[in-house]
Amino acid sequence: MKPAPFDYYAPRDLGEALDVLAEAGEHGKVLAGGQSLIPLLNMRLAAPERLVDINRIASLEPFEVTPDGVRIGALARHSQVERSEGIAAVQPLLRQALRLVAHPVIRNRGTVVGSLVHADPAAELPAVLALLRGSVRLARAGGVRDVPAGEFFTGPLESALEPGELAVSAHFPRLPERTGSSFVEVARRHGDYALAGVAAVVTVDDDLRVSEARVVCVGVGPVPLTADVSGWCERRPASTVDWAAVARAVQDRTEPEADIHATAEYRRHLVGVLAVRALTEAARHAL
Ligand SMILES: Cc1cc2nc3c(=O)[nH]c(=O)nc-3n(C[C@H](O)[C@H](O)[C@H](O)COP(=O)(O)OP(=O)(O)OC[C@H]3O[C@@H](n4cnc5c(N)ncnc54)[C@H](O)[C@@H]3O)c2cc1C
Repeated sequence: MKPAPFDYYAPRDLGEALDVLAEAGEHGKVLAGGQSLIPLLNMRLAAPERLVDINRIASLEPFEVTPDGVRIGALARHSQVERSEGIAAVQPLLRQALRLVAHPVIRNRGTVVGSLVHADPAAELPAVLALLRGSVRLARAGGVRDVPAGEFFTGPLESALEPGELAVSAHFPRLPERTGSSFVEVARRHGDYALAGVAAVVTVDDDLRVSEARVVCVGVGPVPLTADVSGWCERRPASTVDWAAVARAVQDRTEPEADIHATAEYRRHLVGVLAVRALTEAARHAL
């Protein structure tokens, strides 16, 4: 199939893009990497009247390490972020997650911010943003607002982005000292969206006791499901925590739904198995 007709805009600066989006309101759509939007247009599951291609706006390209984390511009491609040694040094979870996103060809074009706005419940990056308590910066003609991850993902393929807004960047906070991270998942084929996935961050104190542990699950709810499991670790030495018991507590909080790919019960089972792996690996990295 071919897309429904639309007016195509390719502005070279942000102000022009925001003006077009403001005029278009709910009939406008941003085109970034196009890896999710183009198939939706071709299948006519999306039919915007105005398409604003942001690929020529140079100010949206940079991604940088900041004192408190990593700020990623709307045109930074998955592969650029994945390969950045500077980012991996302060926020290894991004690289751990990006390696699981689709295939290299898709990662060469798809954008980190586009993935956040697309808000697929099985996608890795929304989960990373939620786990790290990051935020998305949204611009509109005449204003900018930062939306915390906890408020940004509102449902499957739904976000807090409003008509007329453009996501200009996302902020992923730096991991505290002595923190390890991990992202594990099960997909039917490598590069497919996960049937279920779990990411974890574990922080230990000077005595190598667990001071904080958090997880996020993907593919088992309408939005990334985060859980602070620090209490379950009872400030024990990381090497003696019963991670299987902690994982069961995580599993008990999930209520996945069945679909053509997997039963609800199988997805819950995966959460339990993956949570043990993610927490154990994150704790090992912390030590
Ligand atoms: C075969 C295949 C397998 C894939 N597997 C995975 C996977 O395993 N995990 C995963 O996470 N993803 C996967 N993806 C999706 C891929 O990661 C996409 O790149 C990503 O979801 C969207 O990024 P994009 O830049 O291509 O966005 P686009 O396709 O251009 O846009 C997606 C949506 O976000 C909106 N949007 C994009 N950028 C902005 C912005 N700056 N401001 C406002 N709105 C914006 C668009 O209007 C559109 O609604 C896969 C894609 C394909 C084709």
